[in-house]
Amino acid sequence: MDAHVHLTGNGSSGSGCWLRLRGAHRWLAGFMLRQIDLPASALQGDLDRLYVERLVSWVRTSSVRKAVLLAHEEVYHEDGRLMEGFGSFHVPNAYVLSVAREHPEFLPAVSIHPARPDALAELERCVEQGAVMMKCLPNCHNIDCNLPKYRLFWERMAALGLPLLAHTGGEHTVPVVRAELADPRVVTLPLECGVTVIAAHCASRSGLTDPDYFDAFTEMLRRYPRLYGDTSAFNLPARGAHIRDCLKPGVRERLIHGSDFPVPILGLWAFLRGLISLRDYWRCSRIRNSIEKDYQLKKAMGFEPEHFTRVADLLPPKQIPSA
Ligand SMILES: [Zn+2]
Repeated sequence: MDAHVHLTGNGSSGSGCWLRLRGAHRWLAGFMLRQIDLPASALQGDLDRLYVERLVSWVRTSSVRKAVLLAHEEVYHEDGRLMEGFGSFHVPNAYVLSVAREHPEFLPAVSIHPARPDALAELERCVEQGAVMMKCLPNCHNIDCNLPKYRLFWERMAALGLPLLAHTGGEHTVPVVRAELADPRVVTLPLECGVTVIAAHCASRSGLTDPDYFDAFTEMLRRYPRLYGDTSAFNLPARGAHIRDCLKPGVRERLIHGSDFPVPILGLWAFLRGLISLRDYWRCSRIRNSIEKDYQLKKAMGFEPEHFTRVADLLPPKQIPSA
């Protein structure tokens, strides 16, 4: 299972998705599309359809049986008002739920800002429709998960058995609203409310100048048995800096596999760090399908078979009858 796969679109199919790309983010979006064999011109074309078709065909022809497909919330103020003009893309929950209904290889992860006036109602609605996870980026969505007013929301998630996939560590592909919320300690209250939390990227750095929160993450692993990390985007230059530490006992048993599709998967960094052989590097460079390539690279790095199936134990059991 690949537990970190992004859905995106420009609304061309009536999905309600939007993209608002400026400067470097526009260039980056075109670069990411070319990495998944789509032309940058798809940004202005039928991106909704092209993206889903590419993703479905790559999952079907990979070793991955199920991919957790992520919605992407809009940015809100803490008082629940929409932050107009913020955020670079939006993927509505209804769209993720409908794409997952049509394609059995996907499990839907919804995205809900807990300050939204209808947050609890939306949570119930999404779980009823099959949501298996809730995804957010505290530093980009402006969610300080530790605010006492969010306690009811986390308690309801815990009661529903819905895990939280929270971005931790720096971020450079989506605009950051509050940099300090990259600290993994941002998910302390959800953990204390009994929510299973997956710290995306294990709080690793995205850029070379980001603060390094990896030690804070491993310290929390010892304290909170419901905390996990994912290895998404570990094949980017900065995010892979702690792969060797992630393979050590005490950490490796708490990690789950995620590619962060459509983020580029580059085997060069793992090779330069001495994590994979030259032979594995060449073998993986010939794989076009980035879902498969990420899996093969992590297998070559030494992540054990359980790494690629562990997330199934964290999802609400009734939501995945065929997993
Ligand atoms: Zn991601």
